[in-house]
Order: sequence, then C-alpha cells, then structure tokens
Amino acid sequence: MTTITNEQLTIFELSSPGRVGFRFPESDVPAAALDPALERAELPLPELSELDVVRHFTHLSQLNHAIDLGFYPLGSCTMKYNPKICEQTARYPGFAQLHPEQPIETIQGALLLIYDLQETLQQISGFTASSLTPAAGAQGEFCGVKMIAAYHADRNDMRRKVMLIPDSAHGTNPATSVMCGFTVKPVLTDARGNIDLETLAALCNDELAGIMITNPNTLGLFDENIEKVLEMVHQAGGLVYGDGANMNALLGVVKPAELGFDVMHFNLHKTFATPHGGGGPGSGPVLCNETLAPFLPGPVAAILEPATEELPPLYGWHTPEKTIGRVGSFAGHFGMLVRAYTYILLQGSDGLRQVAEHACLNANYLMHALKDAYPLPYDRTCMHEFVVDVKWKDAPEVRALDVAKRLIDYKFHPPTNYFPLIVHEALMIEPTETESKQTLDAFIEAMLAIAKEAREDPEVLHTAPHNAPFGRFDEVKAAKDLKLTA
Ligand SMILES: *Cc1c(COP(=O)(O)O)cnc(C)c1O
Repeated sequence: MTTITNEQLTIFELSSPGRVGFRFPESDVPAAALDPALERAELPLPELSELDVVRHFTHLSQLNHAIDLGFYPLGSCTMKYNPKICEQTARYPGFAQLHPEQPIETIQGALLLIYDLQETLQQISGFTASSLTPAAGAQGEFCGVKMIAAYHADRNDMRRKVMLIPDSAHGTNPATSVMCGFTVKPVLTDARGNIDLETLAALCNDELAGIMITNPNTLGLFDENIEKVLEMVHQAGGLVYGDGANMNALLGVVKPAELGFDVMHFNLHKTFATPHGGGGPGSGPVLCNETLAPFLPGPVAAILEPATEELPPLYGWHTPEKTIGRVGSFAGHFGMLVRAYTYILLQGSDGLRQVAEHACLNANYLMHALKDAYPLPYDRTCMHEFVVDVKWKDAPEVRALDVAKRLIDYKFHPPTNYFPLIVHEALMIEPTETESKQTLDAFIEAMLAIAKEAREDPEVLHTAPHNAPFGRFDEVKAAKDLKLTA
C-alpha cells in the first residue's frame, strides 16, 4: 500500500505490522543485558518502509502552498523569493557546525561575517550601532523599546511612561510597549493615511517616552509629514522607534536615521529574502544612533585588535556598557545572518535600490489594475504594498474573507486579510519585486474574475475553497474548541 491519495491519512493509519524502514548493522560488540525496568511490552510506533515515509511526508508538503510553488502576496510579510544560494551558504559546514562558545580564534570567519553584516545594515539604515541578536522582528522591537526605557531611566526622567502607537500599527508594537512597562496611547490616521498631526500634538507632553512608527505604514503609504512628526516628538523629549518590517520599500532610497529615527529593527526574514512563514526562524537586528548605542543588547561583534601589516584584525565579542542584557541565543539566529549576508552581497548596493524600486512598481501596477473593481480606502500612490476594502454595494454579503478563500481555488496564496484594523474588510496585497509581469497579470485576472463571481454567484465565494485539500474552516469553532491532537 504505497499509493498516496488525497485522503488525510496519518502516519499511524498507514502503518502495516512488521514493516520496517531501516536495518541495524550486524553488532560487532558483545551483547549486554538490558535492565528489565527499561523493557516495554508495547511500543506504539507506526511501522512503515522508508518509501512509505518519504511518500507520506512529500505528499504532506505538497498540500501546503509555498513561495516555491506560487505567488504569495502576503502584505506586510514580504514573501519574496529566497535565492537557493542563500540556503547553500547557510549550510556550509564551516558555518553550520560552529558552536557559539568556541574560542574566538577558531570562529574568525563567522565573526567577520557578523561584523560586516552589522556594518552593512548600518550603512543601509544610516545608523551607527547595531546588535544582530534579536530572534525576530517582535524581539527587535522589544530591545529597541527597552533601550528607550533605559535611556529615560538613565537620565532619571521617570515621568515618561507613554508610548504612542498609530492605529494602523502591527499588534506587536503595542504588545512590546506594554511588556516594557509603558502606557500605550493610540494616534489616529488622517484622511490621506498619514499620522494625524492634531492628535499627535495633543499627546506631545512631558509624559511622552516615545512613538513607534512603521513607515511606509501598514497601508503601504509613506507618511507625507514624517519629518514634522519626528520633530514634534523630539521637541517634547520623546524618542522615535522605527518598525523596519517595510524596509523593502526603502532600500537604497531612504535611510531612517537620516529622517531622524533614533532606533529601529530590520526583519531579515522579510527584507533580505531569508525565508519565513511556517513559524521561523527569524532575525530582527536592532540598530540605533550614538545616544542609544550603550544600551544595545549584547553581545555585538567588534574588532578587538586592529589589522597589522602581517595579520588581519582579530574579531571578538563586545558587550555595550549599559546593555539591556541578553535577549536570546548567543549570536542570534546565525543561519539567518548568513542567508541575509549572502543576499545583500548578491544584490550589491545598486541591486538593493532596484529591489525597492521594483517592489513599489509592482505594487502600483497591481493597485491601478484592481482599483476600479476593489475600492481603495486611501487612493494615492502606494509604496511596496496596498490595501483594498472589499465593500461592494451590489454584493453586500461578500466579505474580504470570501475573496481570500476563493483565491486559493485560483492557486494563489491569499493576501493578508483584516489587517490593518482601521480598514474593516481589508485585503493587504504585497506582490514583492521578485514577481514577473505575467504572474501579476494572472493574479489581476483572478481577482477580476472573483469580483464578477461576487455578483453572479456569491455562494461559490461563501463556500470556497473548493479545490483545496481542506474546505472552509469554522473559524469560531477552531478558536473556541481547540484540538491539537488527533
Ligand atoms: C512582521 C511584522 C512585525 C513583527 O515581526 P516578526 O518578525 O514577525 O516578529 C512587526 N511589524 C510589522 C509591520 C510587521 O509586518
């Protein structure tokens, strides 16, 4: 029985008594008696041949959508193609088999890579210091906001307890601020999708610790007043955190430090192609200006002894003087650092600028082709992504979720939906720069066909997906009656 069908058989159901997938070699040492306490009458493991197992797991892997299988326009997540050479370099034994506690003399290559990546990310962002240890964007935020807290505490300015967060922000922003002990106050978005200056002005006082800004924001819009916003916050004594998840739009064009941001994180697993989705691993380096540098999480890579005429420099670890401490594994997710480093070298500085330009071009191309069929809540030139609001007067029963599920039947991964929260029937579409015009045109065709179906046969949308391994889930039941085991 090795024919795999689309039925959802578990590896236990495929089990056949007596079947084995491996053979131990003939023992070449004398047999020793096993402690009877360790013996079990029954060991309920599935019994399968190697071929059964390979087919089972390969089949399971094919039930999932993946960037290597098709278009994946998940807004805010930047699901761009991850060049396979990045996987190769991360697997080099000289990188993959290192231990972070090895003497530094034995890991000079890895330290050089970390040091050089710090320098490169600093060049891209305009900042002068960085730490690559945070394990994800959210942890980068945690570090940056902790550093803001440490900065105010260091100056004995203990009144500053308020962190401002625009209402379009990713949920990790308020969560991070609360974890760092701040009171979160929302800032509204104005009619053009910018931070509302009037709300902001009312909140700029001596309780202000800082603001967390995503620019371009999660509507895919570059804040037209960004310099004014930063000036207002700084004048009130607050610091500005930059959520760098959307750096794909800015590479080689805008440096956040030059705009006046004080600290930011990169999502290496979004901007620099290292893979994400399916839960990681991620990498969220935090970068900052001179004022905040002493508070960075350690360790950071540093040159301990400069190069001489005979010898290259000696790289090692450095812990910043007033560090907020360590936040995770020693050197961060090193494999992700190797992938990002490879990707950056592959692109070069001209290539990185092209990434941003093509990402914005692709998003605007899609937005213009779709905007007559899908209403835009903020109708202006977008950056690397845009948001539509699925609200049709002549198809009021159809929701963003229906469109998203129907796209699966057309073999596209649905865009992010119901985010940002300020757009009620949001579909947030980010094509990325790695997609061809043909792919974008095929997506446009599918979206327009779905808009037509919404009028002619809405039921087909409400009950979608129809061609996927699983049909529509009952989302309420899934949340309220969680079953994680068979
Ligand atoms: C993805 C994302 C984050 C969080 O990053 P993780 O790496 O998933 O923790 C924060 N803000 C924005 C805008 C994001 O898109």
